Amino acid sequence: MAKIKRILVTGGAGFIGSHLCRCLVEQGHDVICVDNFFTSQKSNVAPLLNKPNFELIRHDIVFPLFLEVDEVYNLACPAAPGHYQYNPVKTMKTSLAGSINMLGLAKRCRAKILQASTSEVYGDPEIHPQPEDYRGSVNPIGPRSCYDEGKRAAEALFMDYHRMHKMPIRIVRIFNTYGPRMHPFDGRVVSNFIRQALTGEPITLYGDGSQTRSFCYLDDLAEGIIRMMDNEENFVGPVNLGNPDELTIKELAELVAELTGTKLQYAELPLPLDDPCKRKPDITLAKKKLHWQPTTSLRDGLTKTIEWFRSINLEHYRPPTPMY
Ligand code: NAD
Ligand code: UDP
Repeated sequence: MAKIKRILVTGGAGFIGSHLCRCLVEQGHDVICVDNFFTSQKSNVAPLLNKPNFELIRHDIVFPLFLEVDEVYNLACPAAPGHYQYNPVKTMKTSLAGSINMLGLAKRCRAKILQASTSEVYGDPEIHPQPEDYRGSVNPIGPRSCYDEGKRAAEALFMDYHRMHKMPIRIVRIFNTYGPRMHPFDGRVVSNFIRQALTGEPITLYGDGSQTRSFCYLDDLAEGIIRMMDNEENFVGPVNLGNPDELTIKELAELVAELTGTKLQYAELPLPLDDPCKRKPDITLAKKKLHWQPTTSLRDGLTKTIEWFRSINLEHYRPPTPMY
């Protein structure tokens, strides 16, 4: 049997974090979930609370934390545009002070630490699809910069700790991910479209819907993240994790309407400032180094996600920030 590790997951009650906690608990590891519940709620990890190998701590990673662990998955950070723009200074602090605190913790424990970075480090890309050696086109002073530049600075910090202190680090650049337990009021496109379709509201299309994204199903992503942490080659990354299957936002709306059996009605809204025109990961490196690629089609993933949205009571969810 594989060695049982003590693993800290920051942002562990969130959409991706709670799924990662579930996978790691199932593998038999001792998992500590740390979260300040800004964009999540306890119900995401409720089924884990009675497990002997799971522990939940309410804590904000902007403040120091002292724990003894073997591995850290650093996921704490608001991820949806509406969430990270709500308090941009706090978002930047979470990426900077939060990363420094978690890197310090990992250094003291000699733990391996993985940073959840993002495709946003490429900004509104001029290279398509985006490989890891593309340095990006980010507006450093725009409304998305608290997130984009915060994540870029966090990558720099991780690499400096690696070079300076020889720390075992990992960096994954996550592209748009969706699935069950995404916050129904996070304002992201998949949750908005499904919720709107199921409640009979018009679909909020920003701009003309010709901008593209590539959506990865949660289970595929979690598999990639764990493979990256576990790779024995000391491959530190950064590595792109995402599904290269690209479509326009209008095509996504049509697919959601088809799968929910609803008639398409649009509420046309302006395209937010600095909204990237296109995005698609080049996953050659992940295939080569991690032998990883997504296996869930958008149609299958959306069907499972819609099923989950049908099963929840929206009144049990509080929008973390005002909605568009
Ligand atoms: P999420 O908002 O569901 O999860 C983030 C979690 O971090 C939440 O539980 C939130 O309460 C917590 N958090 C935020 N600030 C914190 C702080 N200062 N201290 C402690 N906890 C804090 O978002 P997600 O989609 O699960 O994203 C998880 C990570 O993956 C984030 O770092 C995000 O930047 C990254 N990522 C996600 C996507 C995506 O498509 N979902 C894409 C790229 C990168
Ligand atoms: N979008 C949209 N309607 C919505 C929410 C988002 O048309 O209700 C668009 C948004 O402008 C962007 C894309 O969908 O082009 C993805 O947005 P999201 O906020 O999910 O993530 P992003 O990739 O921009 O961080």
